[in-house]
Amino acid sequence: MSDGASVMHLDMDAFFASVEQRVNPALRGLPIAVTGAAKRTVVTTSSYEARALGVRTGMNRFEAKKQCPSLIFVSGNNAKYMDVSTRIMEIIKGFSPLVEVYSIDEAFIDISGLRGLFGSPLDIGRALKKRIKEETGLICSVGIAPNKLMAKLASAMDKPDGLSILRPCDIKAHLQDMPVGTLWGIGPNITSRLGLMGIKTCGELGRANAGILRKNFGIIGERLGAMGRGEYKDPVRPAGFEDRVKSIGHSMTLPEDVWEREKIKMYLLKLSEMVCARARRHGLQGRTVCLTLRYPDFFTFTRQRRLSRATNDTHTLYRAAKRTLSTMRLRAPLRLIGVSLTGIVEGTRQLPLFTEDKQREKLLAAMDEINGRFGHSALTWSALLEPERTPGVISPAWRPSGVRKIDVG
Ligand SMILES: [Mg+2]
Repeated sequence: MSDGASVMHLDMDAFFASVEQRVNPALRGLPIAVTGAAKRTVVTTSSYEARALGVRTGMNRFEAKKQCPSLIFVSGNNAKYMDVSTRIMEIIKGFSPLVEVYSIDEAFIDISGLRGLFGSPLDIGRALKKRIKEETGLICSVGIAPNKLMAKLASAMDKPDGLSILRPCDIKAHLQDMPVGTLWGIGPNITSRLGLMGIKTCGELGRANAGILRKNFGIIGERLGAMGRGEYKDPVRPAGFEDRVKSIGHSMTLPEDVWEREKIKMYLLKLSEMVCARARRHGLQGRTVCLTLRYPDFFTFTRQRRLSRATNDTHTLYRAAKRTLSTMRLRAPLRLIGVSLTGIVEGTRQLPLFTEDKQREKLLAAMDEINGRFGHSALTWSALLEPERTPGVISPAWRPSGVRKIDVG
């Protein structure tokens, strides 16, 4: 899209309070505060009438009442809010299938493909706001921008009932003097650490030396710098997309307790293959290998080994798992073995340097394809094919597809 307006962020205005005023007309136009059900509790959301009189989210009942003596407290009703939220998300999905439901009253929408259908991005925003108002009686604010970070900023620019667009050519000027803490994802902790480095505004953050940011914040340093420039790569993630994969792993309860190292290694290879096949299918790699072992008395322990670089290569994982095992003295046979990759990174596949690596990569891709089509283990490493040594038992938790977060140990 030529003007870069491809993401929309929609945020309901004073959502809980507005729902209450909607279902109970006697509350309309009055300062109300929605609280939790417990006695000692804080304001979750207040109506705009209450906000005008100084009531803020997070105040306790006493503070809020002192600020606004006419304030009416309403106990929150989650079922009611979820019901309305579901209806709103359905309306949004009527416009685009690419909707990331971010919270009960917020969503990101990928609008890059909608121009021909509903007009300009502002037209889409207007139409969406109108539909929601008609069907639920509620108002919302919409922000339109080239990415999620800027769209989230834009939706807050003109609340309530706002419709704002941040074009690429305006972003630099807009961020120049804005405090870093205004950006979504930069909380008080990072704000104060940046402050100690003399970085207070997004403009300063965007111009900060990448090496210094990296030194102070590690891997997120560069990301912070980009955020200061209004750059943000995370796409809109529709439902079903795992939010953030922390680990990819498999474990097996063995058909019988196992002492022999050679047999344990067979299982390690099998598990490594399962883990890496899944990582490759999702374009993910892991930096740390985690080995989990359990004795018959259910004592469970974990050993980790950091790799020199992220991988999803079966043999690399297997070698690391084997090496980890070789450093351990077992006091009993094993009942369960688990292998997982953690420190997951996305799409940072390194090009193989050597011919041998390239060949192995081709082989792995072919194996994945065949296993994907004919079921797991249609094709496997020859070491696994020796009949009586083949570990055949797969954990009941094993799923043929999808990245699953597992708890090990
Ligand atoms: Mg809201």
